[in-house]
Amino acid sequence: MELLNQQVMKAKNMKAVFSLIWDEAGISRAEIAKRLSLSKTTISSLVEELIQRSFIVDTGKQATTSVGRRPSSLFVRQGSHFVPVITWTRNTIDFQVLDLNGETVFTQIEQISDKDQFVSVTSRNLKAICARNAFKDKILVCCLVLPGMIDSFHDVLYSTTLGMYDHDAKAMYESVHKVCKQYPFAVLQDTACYAYAEKIYTTIKVQEFAFINFNIGIGATLFVQGNMLGKANGAFTQFGHYSMDSQGIECACGNRGCLENEIGESNLSTRFKEFSGETDVVIPEYLTYEDLGVAVKEGNETAKRVVISLASDFAQALRNVVCLVNPRLIVLGGKCQYLGELFLTQVQTLLHAQGFSQMSDFTLIRYTNLDSNAYLKGAMRYFFDTYYDFSDVTGNSLFIG
Ligand SMILES: [Zn+2]
Repeated sequence: MELLNQQVMKAKNMKAVFSLIWDEAGISRAEIAKRLSLSKTTISSLVEELIQRSFIVDTGKQATTSVGRRPSSLFVRQGSHFVPVITWTRNTIDFQVLDLNGETVFTQIEQISDKDQFVSVTSRNLKAICARNAFKDKILVCCLVLPGMIDSFHDVLYSTTLGMYDHDAKAMYESVHKVCKQYPFAVLQDTACYAYAEKIYTTIKVQEFAFINFNIGIGATLFVQGNMLGKANGAFTQFGHYSMDSQGIECACGNRGCLENEIGESNLSTRFKEFSGETDVVIPEYLTYEDLGVAVKEGNETAKRVVISLASDFAQALRNVVCLVNPRLIVLGGKCQYLGELFLTQVQTLLHAQGFSQMSDFTLIRYTNLDSNAYLKGAMRYFFDTYYDFSDVTGNSLFIG
């Protein structure tokens, strides 16, 4: 029992040491000992093991100067451990392999014409990736990132984006995991991974914040007291299906007037037609946020009115989020950034003009500082922080959310 406790403690400390080196590249052994309130001897032995296991390198050790040895300078080792992240979107399967520094070292994109192909194409390509010499035996986890609701309690994957309502979801994940059985396998939601990246890779100081992702759907992940509300499964919050109008268009989810059907990209063309009235201008069947943003920049008055109306509806939904969880910060990610300053300023103004001022007056809104691929690093880091264990007790399990 005593031995077991020691092993658990050692793995926990090793994870803390590695996380510090990850976040503060170049940190020294002495500084780590100070931060973690552990002895220098303990830190030295943990660092040695991390070096031996190829997780980190000590660049200070390799060089001496005229005044003696340089202090230790610890960095995550490049190209020694890998994380394949597979993303299902409406028409594609994206295969990316990251190293622990978050660099993409392999990319492959497959077009999908039928949703029945998702499992077979994923399995075939993932198997080939795991067999590559560069990655073989160097994979920490394989991650599958999905848009939608990964409801492990009811064993359902519900995704309007993918057109999937699978009632035997675990069996589907297991059939993919079969091809990489020697590694752990994590099934995570896209917005949660994007939000987690925002938390880790930008300097968010507040404990309460909301991350809203505009993609084909609209998703949100909430952080309360510094922690993600629920797991990375999208089963706790489905902000895109927040009802704006009880008499509105019926959504595939069963609700009416869902936010993502009102202000989502699929409704932009309809909304533009409503605002343009009698005009000869040809409006494309599918108008994107990017098209709309370009039209605003070109001074198109109808486009401006459409953006202001989107901001008005979005602010209404946000005012309710503020009343539920009182976030100090709301970060907007994904395609809404194409709508630029006009959208952001309008949302800020309208959020504060109405709403419960004691709460909303203290809520800041900004666009994300990360690029749209940041969710890949978010997925890797979420798995590591939430599940990875240096004593290998995580084994090769399936992790959902
Ligand atoms: Zn809905």
